[in-house]
Amino acid sequence: MIKISSLLGNTQHLDGGAMFGHVPKALWSNWLQPDDNNCVRLECRALLIEDDNKRILLETGIGAFFSPELKKRYGVSPEHHVLLDSLQNLGLTHKDIDVVILSHLHFDHAGGLLTGYQEGHKSSLLFPNARYLLSLEAFIRAKAPHLRDKASFIPELTALLDASGRMELIEGNHSAALGAKYTFHFSHGHTPGLMLTEISTEQGPLIFAADLIPGVAWLHSPITMGYDRFPEQVVDEKESLLEYIVENEGRLFYTHDPKITLSKVVRDEKGRFSASELLNEVTRIE
Ligand SMILES: [Zn+2]
Repeated sequence: MIKISSLLGNTQHLDGGAMFGHVPKALWSNWLQPDDNNCVRLECRALLIEDDNKRILLETGIGAFFSPELKKRYGVSPEHHVLLDSLQNLGLTHKDIDVVILSHLHFDHAGGLLTGYQEGHKSSLLFPNARYLLSLEAFIRAKAPHLRDKASFIPELTALLDASGRMELIEGNHSAALGAKYTFHFSHGHTPGLMLTEISTEQGPLIFAADLIPGVAWLHSPITMGYDRFPEQVVDEKESLLEYIVENEGRLFYTHDPKITLSKVVRDEKGRFSASELLNEVTRIE
């Protein structure tokens, strides 16, 4: 029996145009309401699984490591590390986590690994008792990013993870630390080695959709982000993941959707995918 919870982290506000790639504002502004700066509010949700005696955290959100200047640039709010509060609400601290799974190391997914900003102090790694799982390819990319996505990584993070001695770099579909209940899918269109975790539950497969499908608006296959390196590849990878979800009556967990935590997926007669059985903001999933 596993217990699954959704944990809110800090929110970010990113340019709506950048989040929707080639989609005109006349269309995307119907899906997410922009503010006066043309930015849309995005959650950075994490997923907590309490499986027997093991606590597994899928991602850590953006956290609070940015300086006040960068917090302002990316519209990060509030100032303090919200994920730590969300853990506390469940009677836990970051020290109670046994495994942290990271889909990739972009700052809005991995920044929460770090302590909150303190002037004159370097950030250090939280989760001192956890193994950090991520794909080998994502780690290689984070160490040597392309100029185009360099700003999305945290320069000091890879050295900190390496020095922890607690990193497990994943190359196959399973991890020795987690066993057969957890399967990894890979996608490379957003960033090389994006790792999507599938959890086998009594209600069918549950997949952490990370940045392949950041929210329900991106379920429609042609919709990609300006941040994706190869949008056409994203579309193809998304289609095959969505087919898998529909076939297996699975569910998707959305890290960035401002309202929806989880949904099932249906495909209509035209082949278009959309969300069904949407679950609004909720902590306890099952
Ligand atoms: Zn990303």
